[in-house]
Amino acid sequence: YTKKQGSNNFTIYSKELDFKTIFKVAVEKDLKSAIENNEFELFYQPIVNLKTEQLNGMEALLRWTHPTLGVIPPDNFIPISEESGQIISIGKWVLETACRQNKEWQNAGHPPFKVCVNISTIQLKRPDFVDAVKAILHKTELAPQWLELEVTESILMENTEVVKDSLRQLKKLGISMSIDDFGTGYTSLSYLRQFAFDRVKIDRSFIEDIESDLNGKAITSSIIALAHKLNIGVIAEGIENEGQLGYLRDELCDEGQGYYFSRPMPAEKHIFPYGSKNY
Ligand code: C2E
Ligand code: MG
Ligand code: MG
Ligand code: MG
Repeated sequence: YTKKQGSNNFTIYSKELDFKTIFKVAVEKDLKSAIENNEFELFYQPIVNLKTEQLNGMEALLRWTHPTLGVIPPDNFIPISEESGQIISIGKWVLETACRQNKEWQNAGHPPFKVCVNISTIQLKRPDFVDAVKAILHKTELAPQWLELEVTESILMENTEVVKDSLRQLKKLGISMSIDDFGTGYTSLSYLRQFAFDRVKIDRSFIEDIESDLNGKAITSSIIALAHKLNIGVIAEGIENEGQLGYLRDELCDEGQGYYFSRPMPAEKHIFPYGSKNY
């Protein structure tokens, strides 16, 4: 009996493994033509000043509509593209598209705001990353102050000269930098200060149960208080209701983002002007 169970388990396990491998190989192959076939699109989600309810920025979020499989969420294909190196060309497409869109919004006469672009550690580790960013800003004519790059805490583990130098250069160009999904890794805030990050984004998992969970509350409040002491701004991700918003306001969280204000949407679905009670 034990043996039989063991072999059943093995069958299930190997099936899963096969599916994952097949999915990965297919995704990697189909990603090759995704850019030229126009299968990518950026959605944008407002980032709101919690005090004034003004629009402070828009985060660009990548969407891939696969010709037969339909929409594949970024969490399912970004890691594969990072492993294959395809994230380099995808990342350039994302950055250029987001900068061009922000310039278009400015040209349309909307009060300017930042566009926030997720950058993979793989991209930032490349010695030519800063040059690529410069070239895109030049090409799209977007001023660097209207671009923010979001990186995850894992970048701080990459304590290399290339990364440190790139962060310094980006800063000098006038681009702002934030740490995404903060609280899920092992970074101390003093480290962020040393790298001159402008903002931390508190991970959605802490905001999710902020109302019921004392730990979530304690973690959120301490991040806000310490970040402020270090002169770093705080964005709360994943605000979905009034209760969460109220708590974050009381704790003097600077900015927020989440379904409560708006889901991520294609550029043309956003209705301007954004402002108080207009989300
Ligand atoms: P992220 O950068 O932390 O983005 C926030 C995610 O939370 C987005 O998921 C967004 O749709 C979702 N979200 C926003 N507000 C709420 C809310 O109120 N409730 C809930 N439940 N979710 C909310 P999405 O678009 O699926 O992206 C997932 C992750 O994929 C991103 O997490 C980011 O790490 C990565 N990603 C997305 N676009 C890009 C990209 O262009 N480049 C890279 N390197 N990574 C990207
Ligand atoms: Mg992000
Ligand atoms: Mg995040
Ligand atoms: Mg995330």
